[in-house]
Amino acid sequence: MTTISPNFDSREGQQVDMLVLHYTGMVSGPAALERLCDAEAKVSAHYLIEEDGTVFQLVDEAERAWHAGVANWRGHSNINARSIGIEIVNPGHEHGYRPFPEEQMQAVLAVSKSVLSRHPIPPRHVVGHSDVAPTRKEDPGELFDWPWLAEHGVGVWPVPPILAPQGLGIPTIVALGGASVPGQFAEKLADYGYDISHLPAAIMAFQRHFRRDYLTGQWDAECDATLEALLRMADG
Ligand SMILES: [Zn+2]
Repeated sequence: MTTISPNFDSREGQQVDMLVLHYTGMVSGPAALERLCDAEAKVSAHYLIEEDGTVFQLVDEAERAWHAGVANWRGHSNINARSIGIEIVNPGHEHGYRPFPEEQMQAVLAVSKSVLSRHPIPPRHVVGHSDVAPTRKEDPGELFDWPWLAEHGVGVWPVPPILAPQGLGIPTIVALGGASVPGQFAEKLADYGYDISHLPAAIMAFQRHFRRDYLTGQWDAECDATLEALLRMADG
């Protein structure tokens, strides 16, 4: 693999501890490749993965690629400096969002695992662009198979929460260690990593990653139980 994008600069000593996954959101893979290598566009990623599983390395991992833009995770805003970025070819919500083919997902898994073997990236630092830029971004989106990736060792997926039968009032979360008071979830979202300065956007980003069949913007008991499970699993 040769590195082919001019769009990078120095990490200035920052250690890599995040992996950010994107979709390209352009009509085709070649169009995305051209843009990510266009000096005028000033955008890039370390890798681009085509729908057939072809992998392009665009920027050396030692360098800072320009993929995250204004972003935040766990209070850090220097996301490009501390991350590896992977662009996954998909037209995205604007141009006909569609499922990610199996060959492509296998390549995403292989590249991610090799990145994880080279850098100390904890599971909850494997994030989508929407997780770190909730008001601006929707990628890689709700069709992206996060649970499958986690099953294969990349990122985190919560143990399915078990809810008590619906009684009077708010369902009590009985599994995995205790009830949680709805209303305090914003703080917990922030504890996990989300920038909650625009809470509705943070809720949507959480759902796009962890409640992919419930993109409502409404916080419910299952969202709460899912977040509790994630916090209990959370690493450093
Ligand atoms: Zn993106």
